[in-house]
Amino acid sequence: MKVSFHGADRDVTGSCHLVEAGGKRFLVDCGFFQGSRELDDENGAPFGFDAAAIDVLLLTHAHLDHCGRIPLLHKRGFRGEIIATGATRELARLVMLDSAHLQEEDARRKMRREARARDSADGAPLYGTLDVLNACDRFGRVAAYGQPITLATGVVVTFFDAGHILGSASILFEVEESGRKRRALFSGDLGNAGRPLLRPPANPPQADVVIMETTYGDRLHKPLAPSIEELYQAIGATFQRGGNVVIPTFALERAQELLYVLRQGHASNRLPPAMQVFLDSPMAISATEIFERYPESYGPAVAELLREGRDPFGLPGLHFARETAESAAINRITGGGVIMAGSGMCTGGRIRHHLRHNLWRPEASVIFVGYAAQGTLARTIIDGAKQVEIFGETVLVRAEVHTINGFSAHADQAELLAWQAQTHAERTVLVHGEASAMRAFADKLGGQKSEIPALGDTIEF
Ligand SMILES: [Zn+2]
Repeated sequence: MKVSFHGADRDVTGSCHLVEAGGKRFLVDCGFFQGSRELDDENGAPFGFDAAAIDVLLLTHAHLDHCGRIPLLHKRGFRGEIIATGATRELARLVMLDSAHLQEEDARRKMRREARARDSADGAPLYGTLDVLNACDRFGRVAAYGQPITLATGVVVTFFDAGHILGSASILFEVEESGRKRRALFSGDLGNAGRPLLRPPANPPQADVVIMETTYGDRLHKPLAPSIEELYQAIGATFQRGGNVVIPTFALERAQELLYVLRQGHASNRLPPAMQVFLDSPMAISATEIFERYPESYGPAVAELLREGRDPFGLPGLHFARETAESAAINRITGGGVIMAGSGMCTGGRIRHHLRHNLWRPEASVIFVGYAAQGTLARTIIDGAKQVEIFGETVLVRAEVHTINGFSAHADQAELLAWQAQTHAERTVLVHGEASAMRAFADKLGGQKSEIPALGDTIEF
């Protein structure tokens, strides 16, 4: 059995690992490289393997940095089967369609700019909507947690709940070659136990080799309860000043988690009863509908609500804005509203309109609840800029700015260590982390055998 590394190596994005076993070739994830750097070139670069020669693609979860290059894989000749859980399949379709749409819009903008400046115009997107639909035709068997799936003679995989986002999984390979059995476990992204919506990650099975994420390999998270309290207090104080609360939100998981937290705050009278909540993100609205189709995936509190026939994401005063006109209408509201919109790092999307309308108002608040990469508008505001540029216009930062850190969807160092210990692995391969986080985590593993592969490296066992 051979594993080679083609993304998220000494880096957090672009997850893509190639497994060769039983005479066949399997990919685990095929994600987008993301961040503040110009990564378009990296996404469009050769994969490092022949796309047409891949027999099966196993998808751990629907985040763009795990599924974003699948349409490109299809474009370059992949005609194998894609296996994922039911929820991942639906969410990945949504995420890839959104990515194609953004790329097509970007390309159109670039072409118009180029056309004004010179004779020839270049800037085609990496892939378009049609490529996504073609790639989605490759979805085959649906994985259920704990149910083995045979990929080839002597190669069986099993998905385990990773507790990271809806449908997320760790994937165990069991390979029998020349009378020798080996077990390799890919963690996927691991969740943070104690979050309100999802169950914690399942106990991992024993494995000879683990290939694991290390996003927070170097730190511990703040607990969730004080973060929720901080959110409620910030909303209450902002409404008393007569302003709006603007929350830049990732469409998957974070938006649904916030809706649930706001619902609980409203139900327990810890939030103003007249609060109006706007979810201004077509993708988050679609994702919320998908979430409601998988009641079996939730933690006990949410499952209880669903059993009672109550909507865990519904609260009085909640408005969904799908159309542009509905989004623009929110700009007329100057106080008493909680406005959630994407993108989470404010690099694009409707959030920029809401920031333009609220950031200059001292009575308003902006609350950041997610990761913000260097160089993004979110990071500039968090770092204390006095004014920012939005749509070519200078906007003063007079709103109160909060950063609340307890909502992470990733396991922290202690949780990663506990997970790794349960696998009893002889060999631990670290991926999906910044180099410093990986080194810190490798130190924590002490005398155990760990390694940090570079892009293109191969290991054999
Ligand atoms: Zn993820």
